[in-house]
Amino acid sequence: MKIQILSDEMASRIAAGEVVERPASAVKELIENSLDASATEIFISVEKSGTSSIRVSDNGEGMAPEDLNLAVERHATSKLKVDEDLFRIATLGFRGEALPSIGSVSKLQVVSRSPNAATAQKLCVEGGKKGEMLPTAAAVGTSIEIKDIFFNTPARRKFLKAPATELSHICDAVNRMALAYPGVHFRLEHDGRTVADYVSVNDGKDRLYQVFGREIAKGLAAFDWRQGELAAHGFLSSAPLSFPNARYLYTFVNRRYVRDKVLTHAVLQGYETLLMKGQYPAVVLFLNVPFGEVDVNVHPAKFEVRFRRQSDVHEAVARAIRQALRQEAKEPGPRSGAISSSSFSGVREVALPYGLSARTAPDNPAPTYGNVFTLPPRAAAQEGFYSSMRVLGQILGCYLVCASSQGLALIDQHAAHERVAFEKLRRQMDAGEVAMQNLLIPQTVRLSAGEMMLLEQKLDILRRFGFDLEPFGPDAYAIHSVPALLPEGDYSQVVRQMVADLAEVDTSSKLREHLEDRLATIACHSVIRANRMLEMDEMRALLSDLDQIDFATQCPHGRPVLIEISRDELERMFKRVV
Ligand code: ADP
Ligand code: MG
Repeated sequence: MKIQILSDEMASRIAAGEVVERPASAVKELIENSLDASATEIFISVEKSGTSSIRVSDNGEGMAPEDLNLAVERHATSKLKVDEDLFRIATLGFRGEALPSIGSVSKLQVVSRSPNAATAQKLCVEGGKKGEMLPTAAAVGTSIEIKDIFFNTPARRKFLKAPATELSHICDAVNRMALAYPGVHFRLEHDGRTVADYVSVNDGKDRLYQVFGREIAKGLAAFDWRQGELAAHGFLSSAPLSFPNARYLYTFVNRRYVRDKVLTHAVLQGYETLLMKGQYPAVVLFLNVPFGEVDVNVHPAKFEVRFRRQSDVHEAVARAIRQALRQEAKEPGPRSGAISSSSFSGVREVALPYGLSARTAPDNPAPTYGNVFTLPPRAAAQEGFYSSMRVLGQILGCYLVCASSQGLALIDQHAAHERVAFEKLRRQMDAGEVAMQNLLIPQTVRLSAGEMMLLEQKLDILRRFGFDLEPFGPDAYAIHSVPALLPEGDYSQVVRQMVADLAEVDTSSKLREHLEDRLATIACHSVIRANRMLEMDEMRALLSDLDQIDFATQCPHGRPVLIEISRDELERMFKRVV
């Protein structure tokens, strides 16, 4: 006989490997339990980045003695009663694995008291061995202590990262929960020092200030969107605030933090062309879907979910984000008053969230702001933010210099043209009628055999963009018409580029995104490249065009169109004020 059934102890330790990867995973599981127990105060205290001890105390409903006795057993949970419950999970926990897993790889002590019990009970588990339950004095609620995590799994211990990294994972775990539960008071202490203390607040926005710090939180606007059974709300940054990685992108499903590719992709798609390549927004997205529409039982640490109707969710989220951004661009809140900046470096230090010093979070990126760039203030937006500017002139063949209500405004003429062309084209395409211009004399574009084959399959798509092409011999196509927006010139280059770009389009799910990118390609070609002096009426026309479109503040590649320098900033530059 080669096969043996694993001992319970071994099986628990193996299961623990999946659930408890590092101290932060234990912290996460314990906080989830406290939240499931309706706690309003959760105090976390860790020593040596959680490797020496982790204590989580709550004022939740506690456990009766017989429940406590069972809670540390494998597959013991109070959260699933009937089979069907597994398909509509409303609690954060449900697997009945956390306490036994933690108990099998550490020295665990649970003290708990339910409201109608005279005393609290204490139960210890060490390396999977359960001790006696003993009465002890404690307030209603539960307090769990984990000592020497991984003491009996040295391999796991070896895999832990530097203490600062483990601590930052713990901070992340606390912050995620804190974002989703603003009404709960969270406090985190490390080696006796308070790292975070988020008192209970009514408004999610206040929690954002607590967790992210003022500098970032003030740049985020609230949004709220609903369609049928899907609801999305949260906070997002508008274009000028972006980050070199997805660190400030948080997605929650039914208040559970998840790392979900579909959601992240949908959020980024919502930003469309507003961000430069490699830049990420700050978004806190809370998606609420009916419990039966999402399977949360697909990952041992419950970090992933599966949606029953994935593409609907994707589309809904992208739409929610896009609509919020459009709204923001039209009516920016008070937050988008000039981002005060004492220098023009465009990159500034910000207060790190959760009070960590830069040393303990070395990879924390400083956000990049669109410099002293501002969005149009609400009042001016109505009478035409751009048209209300007084044009002073043009410099260096490519910048308009204007007096705005705030102070001095500089407009990148190319970026502005591109954005206008892009939005016009997009509108035409959405309406299914791209304005075309017929060429009196068709131009030919010579192509390789591969390109010929590609083009043949993409003729329909090209037509939607306004390109009408016909085969012209074995190795060429004739261009009969092009989008009306394109200026006169040699079109073979733009066609060639479109063909190359379209090669990547295979799945229809990505089509829209690709179409947008191609719109940007055309818009880019529509702008006269060489520096050109503009007449006054051309400048005025450009400004009024900018007022007609959404997202007038960024070019389709995410570069800013406008930089505004306020009176405050001018005064600071001239040292009139300090
Ligand atoms: P799960 O959360 O998946 O049910 P756990 O192993 O995390 O599994 O917890 C087992 C059970 O112990 C829970 O179902 C719950 O009844 C109880 N429990 C754990 N932590 C707490 C707590 N802080 N307050 C009250 N009950 C708790
Ligand atoms: Mg749990």
